[in-house]
Amino acid sequence: MPKLPVLSDWPVLRQLRRRDPSGLGSTAASPRTRSLAPRTASADRVARSICPYCAVGCGQLVYVKDEKIVDIEGDPDSPVSQGCLCPKGAATFQLVTGAHRLEQVLYRRPGGTSWEAIPLEQAMEMVAQRVKKARDETWQERVEDEGAEHHGDQVRRTLGIAHLGGATLDNEENYLLKKLFTALGVVQVENQARI
Ligand code: SF4
Repeated sequence: MPKLPVLSDWPVLRQLRRRDPSGLGSTAASPRTRSLAPRTASADRVARSICPYCAVGCGQLVYVKDEKIVDIEGDPDSPVSQGCLCPKGAATFQLVTGAHRLEQVLYRRPGGTSWEAIPLEQAMEMVAQRVKKARDETWQERVEDEGAEHHGDQVRRTLGIAHLGGATLDNEENYLLKKLFTALGVVQVENQARI
C-alpha cells in the first residue's frame, strides 16, 4: 500500500519551519538534488591554467582525477576574469574530451570524394614537400614588377605561401610560427584573433 503523505511533508509547513517562505531555499531541494555532487568534488588535484581560446587569457582551474581531466572551471583568483568564463571558455573541457574531436590526420586527395586517415609522419612529409615546392616556384630574390616603385630591390621572399593561425595557439606557439615562416621568406603571416 502506498505511503500516505503526513502533514510534516506538506511544503508550506516545511517552508515555515525552515524559515524559507518563498520556497526558493533548502525546501526546494529534493532528496535527489541533495544527493548530487559536482564533478569537481571527486578530483584529486587542481591545476591552474589559462583559457586557450582568445587573447583575453581568462584563468582556469583544471580538475584532475587519476591523471584524467574531469572538469574545467573559471579561476576566482584570476585578476583578469575573476572566476568568469565566456561560453566558449566554459566549454574547454570538451576540447579535451569531446567525442567529435579528431585524433588522426584526415586527407582528401585531389578529386577525392571522401576523407582517408593517414599517419601523422606521412602528412608532415606531404606538407613539407608542398611548402618546398611552392617556395621554390614562387621565390623572389628582388622585386620583379617593372612598374613597381621598388623595382629591383632585394626582398628574398615568397608570396606563394601564407599562414593563418588560430586563436587557440598560445603566445609561444605564435612566436615559433612567426620565426619559422619568416625564416622561410613567408611575409603573409596572420592570426585569426587579429582579424
Ligand atoms: S573564456 Fe572566453 S573571453 Fe576568456 S580567454 Fe577564453 S575565449 Fe577568451
